[in-house]
Amino acid sequence: MKIHEYQARQLLADAGVAVPAFAVAEDIATAVAQAKKLFDAGIAEVVIKAQVHAGGRGKAGFVKLVSNLKDAESAATFMLTNKMVSYQSGPEGLVVRKLLIAAAEQIVKEYYLAITIDRARGTSTLIASAEGGVEIEVVAENNPAAILKVPTHPMLGLQAFQAREVAFQLGFTGKQVGQAVDIMMKIAKVFREKDASLVEINPLVVTPPDAKNPDGRVLALDAKFQFDDNALFRHPEIATLFDPAEENPAEIRANEFGLSYVALEGNIGCLVNGAGLAMSTMDIVKLHGGEPANFLDVGGSASEEAVTEAFRIILGDPSVQGILVNIFGGIMQCDKIARAIVSSAKTVGFKVPLVVRLEGTNVAAARQILAEAQREIPAMQTATDLTDAAKRIVAAVAAVNAGGATHAVTTR
Ligand code: GDP
Ligand code: MG
Repeated sequence: MKIHEYQARQLLADAGVAVPAFAVAEDIATAVAQAKKLFDAGIAEVVIKAQVHAGGRGKAGFVKLVSNLKDAESAATFMLTNKMVSYQSGPEGLVVRKLLIAAAEQIVKEYYLAITIDRARGTSTLIASAEGGVEIEVVAENNPAAILKVPTHPMLGLQAFQAREVAFQLGFTGKQVGQAVDIMMKIAKVFREKDASLVEINPLVVTPPDAKNPDGRVLALDAKFQFDDNALFRHPEIATLFDPAEENPAEIRANEFGLSYVALEGNIGCLVNGAGLAMSTMDIVKLHGGEPANFLDVGGSASEEAVTEAFRIILGDPSVQGILVNIFGGIMQCDKIARAIVSSAKTVGFKVPLVVRLEGTNVAAARQILAEAQREIPAMQTATDLTDAAKRIVAAVAAVNAGGATHAVTTR
């Protein structure tokens, strides 16, 4: 599960990490009023940041520094009325519903700091770089040596000596060292306590020296958390941070029915049982020149209602121009799928070509059900094997696009 930056900042602040104060606004007027408060208090520069579940905002123009109310208003207007498109958002972009407003900090240098799970090592790992900021992906690509990775002890967690070593390697000096170590120890602790899968601060910054802080302050100016969904039951306070507006509504509905659904860019909807079979089905669709519209694993023991809901979700996607059903019945009984197809045809209606390939448990009964329903579901073809099925659906979708849509008939 992902959360917003403002929520992440709060978690960091609660964990004792130095985070600048901030306000959240959901409309332009409130954003401007918050900026005005800061300007009136003598703050020279204010930062306005779009709150969406994706990074890369800075480069996309969705993090703006403003020094007067007019600019604050135009920044807020721009962010709340345009979709944020970055390399992390997907090409369709994200609607911005909330803004974070804070006094801008002056930055001497930006660092990258994160803790995440290193699956190969089977432990959580501290990742740090003195080359932090919006170019961190470029650094990772071109200069991986500039990124430090420190595995933590599975029982003891991050040790203070490790954090100190990292702080020195990053080039922190004087009082900065203690501040940086403190932040590393605290994010490692909150990572563990909250069953996070990622805590990332990019940038972690050093501010210019002032009378009270001759070495400047070390501050978190951005914050990102991701949590292990399977551990959310242990953290009701984290579960409440979930923002359904940020998720694909179809994915949320699928989740409620115990279906694993991921929307993709193509036009062939796939309904499959088992994640591995779903992956290979997508591969074979692509091999034959098609593009899957989704990944959908109905699982081994889905009910007829869940499978009907799966069809509803796939058919609710306007980009779907054809559906491929590929079921290998083990625990899943093929006749259950066949009945779900028939009931979906009645309740939802197949307005696009449907190719069904069933094999395994109760397949004879399933074929019988489909054969009897064929007349009512003219959009349906049955396939003999997966290659045949993939070829058929790709051809059927191509025919629809070429205008020869012989199967594009509703059964209602
Ligand atoms: P991201 O691009 O989505 O990761 O958004 P960030 O919150 O990391 O902001 C992007 C960049 O904006 C940062 O790397 C900073 O260079 C800049 N930035 C963000 N907040 C401030 C601030 O308070 N003061 C200054 N001077 N720059 C900021
Ligand atoms: Mg950032």
